[in-house]
Amino acid sequence: MSDQLLKFLFRDAPVRGEIVRLQESWRQMVANHRYPAPVTRLLGEVTAAAALLAANIKFDGALILQIQGNGPVRLLVVEVQPQMRLRATAKLREAAVIDEDASLQALTNPDGDARCAITLDPTGRRPGQQPYQGVVPLAGESIAQVLENYLRQSEQVESRLWLAADGSAAAGVLLQKLPQEGGAAAKPDVDAWQRVGALTATVTTAELLALTPEALAHRLYWEEQLQHFAPVAPRFECNCSRQRSGRMLLALGRDEVDSILAERDDVEIVCDFCSARYAFDRVDVAQLFAAGTTSGFGSTEQPH
Ligand SMILES: [Zn+2]
Repeated sequence: MSDQLLKFLFRDAPVRGEIVRLQESWRQMVANHRYPAPVTRLLGEVTAAAALLAANIKFDGALILQIQGNGPVRLLVVEVQPQMRLRATAKLREAAVIDEDASLQALTNPDGDARCAITLDPTGRRPGQQPYQGVVPLAGESIAQVLENYLRQSEQVESRLWLAADGSAAAGVLLQKLPQEGGAAAKPDVDAWQRVGALTATVTTAELLALTPEALAHRLYWEEQLQHFAPVAPRFECNCSRQRSGRMLLALGRDEVDSILAERDDVEIVCDFCSARYAFDRVDVAQLFAAGTTSGFGSTEQPH
């Protein structure tokens, strides 16, 4: 399993953990994009974090992590569909100049008003039903810090995150403090959170990227008693389709689509996530709008 997400509990500490490493899926996500290295790193960290967050909640639906701001990177979107099906994209400003060592704030938030939004979109959501969304300001030196704050605020759970990414892998560790169990048998271990945190803080970027989650868990926690759960295999999957692209054209409106067709033979929608191309010529467009207006079907899709 080259892509793996491992969940575990510490037997002697009220702490739960997750480790993820994406290789094949991550390479597929970046293959068709020529992101500058700092953007690849950031998008990889956000992707690893989104996988960790999605695995951490009991929820049937998609988790969407989105960062929007006024920097050279104007939008980052990562979607995690059920069964750990991932897709991710970054949109850069035209003619964006990006330093090799650009920080999170320089990349996304030069004006200080960037936002990080986490949306939970339930499977089978009815039209008009709003998905749950939590938004936090993009305050911090790393995406790990931003999300630690988010988890502290939204879930009221002490959380720590370590993230790393390059062009070939994206990886991360999430620790969360569990409420201390009562009862006579439970020996209160007040230092456990600190101890496990200190062990994890020894992790290097190279280890995160090079080791399988199982090997990394062993390296970090060999003195601890761990209870592992069966690992899951995240994978890249884009759910774009010709039909969804058609709905985007319907949402744009006939006038707008016709104005594009006045200048070229077809209107083409390119998927930001997987670079698939969907072309609609005049006949396709006429059919689309005839069907779209009679069935009245969806403008609920967001153009992406
Ligand atoms: Zn796609």
